Amino acid sequence: MCSESDPGRATNRKKQSFSVERVATRRKRMKVAHGEVEKCDAFDALPDDLVLSILCKLSASAGSPADLINAQLTCKRMRSLGMHSIVLEKASMKALTFRARNWSENAHRFLKMCSDSGNVEASYTLGMIRFYVLENRASGASLMAKAAINSHAPSLYSLAIIQFNGSGGSKSDKDLRAGAALCARASFLGHVDALRELGHCLQDGYGVRQNIVEGRRFLVQANARELAAVMKSQPVRWQTEVAAAESSPCSLLSDFGCDVQPPEVHPANRFLTEWFAARGGDLGAGLRMCSNQGCGRPETRNHEFRRCSICGVVNYCSRACQALDWKLRHKTACVPVGRWNIDGAVAGGGDNGPADHLVEQS
Ligand SMILES: [Zn+2]
Ligand SMILES: [Zn+2]
Repeated sequence: MCSESDPGRATNRKKQSFSVERVATRRKRMKVAHGEVEKCDAFDALPDDLVLSILCKLSASAGSPADLINAQLTCKRMRSLGMHSIVLEKASMKALTFRARNWSENAHRFLKMCSDSGNVEASYTLGMIRFYVLENRASGASLMAKAAINSHAPSLYSLAIIQFNGSGGSKSDKDLRAGAALCARASFLGHVDALRELGHCLQDGYGVRQNIVEGRRFLVQANARELAAVMKSQPVRWQTEVAAAESSPCSLLSDFGCDVQPPEVHPANRFLTEWFAARGGDLGAGLRMCSNQGCGRPETRNHEFRRCSICGVVNYCSRACQALDWKLRHKTACVPVGRWNIDGAVAGGGDNGPADHLVEQS
């Protein structure tokens, strides 16, 4: 029998006790460690560079502003990194697309931050909004110029229209040479409307030395690019396949015997169109909108835009808008009203519509 005073048993008990304490301590440590693991989110362990890289890809592929904003709302860190300049610089055109009805100070601030980060689409969109909607001409033109310096074709073309029309100033502020030079730069970058505008400038000697052959070449190139763009983006239905009963076939490429939808409108132009449509298209003070439905540009002074000399009821900011609207709608609506204002004006003449029939208004 072993008594309590047995030194061997006492030693064993001591060892057992020590062993239990060690197990308890180990468990305690494991519990602490487990608690630490729970507290330490794996996301927090990711380096900033990696998170920024993911946010840049999200920003570049975003289908709407909400895609980026929802990611920023997930936590404080995502909000902070989501507003980093390299993320905003990469923001896609769709991430910067705001509808006119959703316009707010926050949207304005977001576009400004993207523009400040070097995003040319943001500079262009905000430039158009400031110039035509908020009537902050200097700031709007400056933002478009900032994008134009970085070879943003729509900005170059919009600045060309401003120069051709003397928008934001008086009639004497027109600078045809500057307009043609900006058009040439945008044409070089493949901008279809700029190609068409430059073609007409060369044909007419408008802001450049007249060169009819070269002008014709630009117009053919504009049509070819337009055809290539629409055939790439949508299936083409040859007119023989289109049911005769179909109510309103698009006539964009009707000259080529096929029906396609008009080219996609830039979000900045769609914003302008929606903004002024929400106000009933009434600009006040006798000002009018460009009659090309996808343009959205308003006059900045009376009689700024040229009108169709045949019917006298439509007005265009540019000959590119006139040529496109002629193919899409006006060809079937234009009715002569005895206002043949310029020599040799013939309804429907020319492959590009009556671009020659636009007259300046006094
Ligand atoms: Zn227009
Ligand atoms: Zn007309």
